[in-house]
Amino acid sequence: MINALKNALELDHKDPLAPVKDKFELPQNTVYLDGNSLGPMLTSIKAAVTDVVQQQWGSGLITSWNRHHWIDLPTTVGEKIAKLLGAAPGQVVCTDSVSVNLFKLLGCALKLNPKRNVVLTETSNFPTDVYIADGFRSFLSQQECQLQLCDSAQLLGSLNADIAVLLLTQVDFRSGKLHDIAKITAAAQHFGIIVIWDLAHSAGAVPLRLDAWNVDFAVGCGYKYLNGGPGAPAFIYAAKRHHGNIVQPLQGWMGHKAPFDFDLDYSPSPDVRQFLCGTPPIVSMHILNTALDVFQDISMEDIRAKAMALSGFFENLIATSETLGEMQLISPTDPTQRGNQLAYRHPNAYAICQALIAENVIADFRSPDLLRFGFSALFLSFTDIANAALTLHKLVKTKAYLEPRFSQRQRVT
Ligand SMILES: *Cc1c(COP(=O)(O)O)cnc(C)c1O
Repeated sequence: MINALKNALELDHKDPLAPVKDKFELPQNTVYLDGNSLGPMLTSIKAAVTDVVQQQWGSGLITSWNRHHWIDLPTTVGEKIAKLLGAAPGQVVCTDSVSVNLFKLLGCALKLNPKRNVVLTETSNFPTDVYIADGFRSFLSQQECQLQLCDSAQLLGSLNADIAVLLLTQVDFRSGKLHDIAKITAAAQHFGIIVIWDLAHSAGAVPLRLDAWNVDFAVGCGYKYLNGGPGAPAFIYAAKRHHGNIVQPLQGWMGHKAPFDFDLDYSPSPDVRQFLCGTPPIVSMHILNTALDVFQDISMEDIRAKAMALSGFFENLIATSETLGEMQLISPTDPTQRGNQLAYRHPNAYAICQALIAENVIADFRSPDLLRFGFSALFLSFTDIANAALTLHKLVKTKAYLEPRFSQRQRVT
């Protein structure tokens, strides 16, 4: 701990991504270790919001659907995201939330495998993924759809030719454990299974090669590592080879091939726009569109390399600090086997998290006993990491987190 700040300064001097931090508007003296849950605001967003609200909406009114290309925004944003996913053009669209998009893709995937009825996922998956799959199943008969959950360790052994759809999240939201998309997709496709990947904690965080890995479908989040703002719309990736065979259950007019023909018969768009449903949230999508420009001149490999260095630096400071020995790391110790986050188990995790926030070190708590830290490469410095570790060290040493106010549960943790 003693040399933490000195070592951090040296690492900051050598960091090629260090200048990117200035593009973000972060409160003074705050270390934000929660960009994996809600990305912070880029300074460019304020002017973008003024523009979309005052000029585009205020002055342009409805003409902005054409004049400012609002109608193309889902695919404009989709193409920017595609570059981060290793996806050729025409396969990514920005729309709705991850939850809603999973419902759409479950419908598509099940129809692509009409002789089968099992949807397989993991017990450790993010709850919304399981809720959506369960809700989807509840509208169908047992013959049409069944939901099967397996333990992460049993995943490969659970694959067989009865399974229609495999639904997985690449980065475990608790431990950060990283799935090998290429390997699992190939293993599932060997049995004729269609795979849907949830990239909520992957997009903008780890390099992806969805085309090269022959991925069928994927979804991901706009408000986490893509910094699109609270409730930013999500995205869908659908491999081009499937576009001609899709039956998308949420057949809204924006997915129609000619919405303004107002034809009573649904005729889907032949391209990726068939995954749209209703009218896109233009203000929110415009913010995400602007936020994505930060990735323009930066490679995902550089982002990943820095994030691994940041999490490794933090992990090492915690591991070598005596007082922090009571925190048990549940994330893989090999940084290549985890996303850009670390999770520690501690019986007082909630109170420690609240006490950290009171000291302007923002992390999050995941029930029942996990303290989770996200390492976003774009706006965190090694000095930030050293300061966070020193604050944590002080709180744990003095047990200041035992003050009753830190144990009061809030609605959002
Ligand atoms: C954050 C997250 C979501 C969020 O879904 P929304 O419907 O967009 O709120 C879904 N899945 C995973 C794995 C997540 O981490």
